[in-house]
Amino acid sequence: MTPGTVRFTESDLDAALWRLLAVNDREDPAAFVTEHERVEDALAASTDPRWIAWRHALDARRGLVGSDLDATAAGVAAAREALGACPPGPQTALTLAYLAHVEATADHFDAAMLLAVDASLLTESPTAGRPSRALHQAHLWLSLTLTALDLEELAVTQALRGHVIAAALPDVADQWLLLRLCAQQHAELAQTLHRRGRVERSRELAGVAVDCAAAARALDWEPDPAEQDLLDVVQAWGLTCRGELDEAIGPMRRAHRRVHAHGGTWLRGYADLVLAQLLGRLAQAQAGGSHGAEATDLLVDAAGAFAAAGDRRRYRQCLLELGQSTAAMGRPAEALHWLEAYRADTGRAHARGRELWAEMFVRRSRLREAERQTDLLRRHALEDPLTGLGNRRSAERRLRSLRLDEQPLSLAVVDIDRFKAVNDDTSHSHGDEVLRRVAHLLREHSRTGDEVYRWAGDEFLVVLPTATEHQALAAMERLRAAVAGADWGDLQLPEPVTVSIGVATACPAADEPVGWRSLFDAADLHLFSAKRGGRNRVRAPGARPAAGGSA
Ligand code: GH3
Ligand code: MG
Repeated sequence: MTPGTVRFTESDLDAALWRLLAVNDREDPAAFVTEHERVEDALAASTDPRWIAWRHALDARRGLVGSDLDATAAGVAAAREALGACPPGPQTALTLAYLAHVEATADHFDAAMLLAVDASLLTESPTAGRPSRALHQAHLWLSLTLTALDLEELAVTQALRGHVIAAALPDVADQWLLLRLCAQQHAELAQTLHRRGRVERSRELAGVAVDCAAAARALDWEPDPAEQDLLDVVQAWGLTCRGELDEAIGPMRRAHRRVHAHGGTWLRGYADLVLAQLLGRLAQAQAGGSHGAEATDLLVDAAGAFAAAGDRRRYRQCLLELGQSTAAMGRPAEALHWLEAYRADTGRAHARGRELWAEMFVRRSRLREAERQTDLLRRHALEDPLTGLGNRRSAERRLRSLRLDEQPLSLAVVDIDRFKAVNDDTSHSHGDEVLRRVAHLLREHSRTGDEVYRWAGDEFLVVLPTATEHQALAAMERLRAAVAGADWGDLQLPEPVTVSIGVATACPAADEPVGWRSLFDAADLHLFSAKRGGRNRVRAPGARPAAGGSA
């Protein structure tokens, strides 16, 4: 498009981004370039940091498509900088996960892993919020990234998290996509574990793959044909890894034919790879026949397709499979050729880095868990579990921190009248409920900036920073009236609940500075006076006792 000819709204940009991400995860470079050209200028015109980050992230991906690794590096760096101005949340998690995938595709494993860890922390933090499309896509791209890093188990975890979110989304297309991805990740992991000799775990994962594929089929949604073909291939792969070769072969042959008639390069490679796996196992099971030779040819085709589509990981996987299968067929020279090619492309450093990163990923999550526990302990140490108010320890901490010589400050001690009778005449749990409600009323009706603590039993402390005695009396009278006027009918108490309150105020002008303890004792003394005066009243040193509520 020419700049200025078409106006993109925010939701147009959103829709364009989802389209781009969809063609991208099918690894279809041509479609990606077409979609990218459509939005390039609109993105360049936006000054919103989120879209600036996306502009650079997509430029980075475009660099990969054109094998321009400098453009990719510049794009990633600029996108990261723009993300610095974005709030933490699912949108930022998604962009980070996408950048991680770009880095993984560029074979920058360490950089990819760092980005993936950051993205995953954001998806787990409270800012991630409720299930959203962005959060779901963040898990999807994390899963794809971890797969690209050969961390299949972690990839499956992300795919499953995405699946849980997808199930809570209203959009059935999103649900379908995530189920397909789950099926695919499980099938691929099953294959890898099978190769490593972990047969039982491999079958287990293959079972999940088959179930996910069936669940996707059961949804009321018709995906585009390429997606449907991919699901068919994945399902056949799941059946293969579960050892149900006879059930798999018919559907797989049909899917393979369809893909070769209409599919893109990558999908053709994928169908070749899966059919090759299936034929390889049939050859093993039936000992002989032409399956082995056909499987080898298919693997060679698949390797070529993946190389052309820029999918280095699956290209390497094909080389490895070729080496292993030709060795099994008793052709050592050929096997050596493939394994040499595999080794040249992989490099030992990668394998080591991968292990280190897997460890790091898990350790970071554990650290977060430890932090959460510490927070919890800290909260428990300072919070009264029954009312949610600060407990006596936190009140004392606060009192110690107060400066009594700078501004006036008032304390009020609030005690529930004849509370023992509530426990005795009804039940302890009624008593607890009264405590909770009184706590709530005190908090609700106190002035902004005043603090309410549960001091002990049925006694509460209100700290009123900057309040003169007169102001404190007025504020406490409001609390007293709020408790007395509340509706306690549903608890069926013998008497309505009331409170007595004693107030004390420290004035910076006073001759003798007071400490918080003597201030507290003064308030407590006036509480005693309020009780003696008949309860349900507020008392302070300078106030004359009066009939009824106030002192
Ligand atoms: P007064 O008007 O003189 O204050 O009479 P009172 O009955 O309220 O006497 P007091 O303040 O001494 O009684 C406090 C009672 O609070 C005693 C204790 O059994 C009860 N209590 C303390 N903590 C809790 C609690 O967590 N839950 C319940 N249900 N009761 C509690
Ligand atoms: Mg009491």
